[in-house]
Amino acid sequence: MSEIGKNLVVISGPSGCGKDTVVKHIINTDPRFVLSVSATTRSKRPYEVNGVDYIFLTSQEFIGKIAGSEFLEHTLYCGNYYGTLKSQIEEKVAAGKVVVLVIEVEGAANVKKVYPDALTIFVAPPSLEELERRLRNRGTEDDGTIKQRLFKASEELGFKSSYDYIVENNYVEQCAQSIIDIFDGVK
Ligand code: 5GP
Repeated sequence: MSEIGKNLVVISGPSGCGKDTVVKHIINTDPRFVLSVSATTRSKRPYEVNGVDYIFLTSQEFIGKIAGSEFLEHTLYCGNYYGTLKSQIEEKVAAGKVVVLVIEVEGAANVKKVYPDALTIFVAPPSLEELERRLRNRGTEDDGTIKQRLFKASEELGFKSSYDYIVENNYVEQCAQSIIDIFDGVK
């Protein structure tokens, strides 16, 4: 088994399914896990902190890092670039941590190609209606963006069977515990 691959947990799920809250819960309750902080060209939401939630970059900076082969994977999602920096993974695994990547389906498939031992988990919303309600309650996207993300969500749900495991997010604590149990069961 590759040392890096077996220490990676890749989480995907449609925007608004609550995966970020679930992952924060895992990281806050189990010190073995740390987050891979992705780079993005999307604009920062008011509550987000640069370097903690994302590394916010200009398109020019992002393209420079693509050219420098600094990404393990990157993609264009709803008009913005997102990518996992190799340095995030390598440094954190070398420090003895299990690194959690919260990335969309194309990125997850690309990580699995490079690291077949990585554990991939799809977090599914209870339903598309509930997903829309959560997205609207979050209040961080305008109507056009919500529609675009809902369309993307139904597309993403079609990929869930390619993941090692699917976990439904009804309750944050329960969903987080299921993910930890799966990791402990397969590692
Ligand atoms: P959001 O804009 O809602 O923070 O993220 C949009 C989507 O991009 C989410 O599905 C999120 O998981 C995904 N994402 C975040 N970081 C990365 C990354 O580094 N690579 C890929 N492929 N997707 C990412």
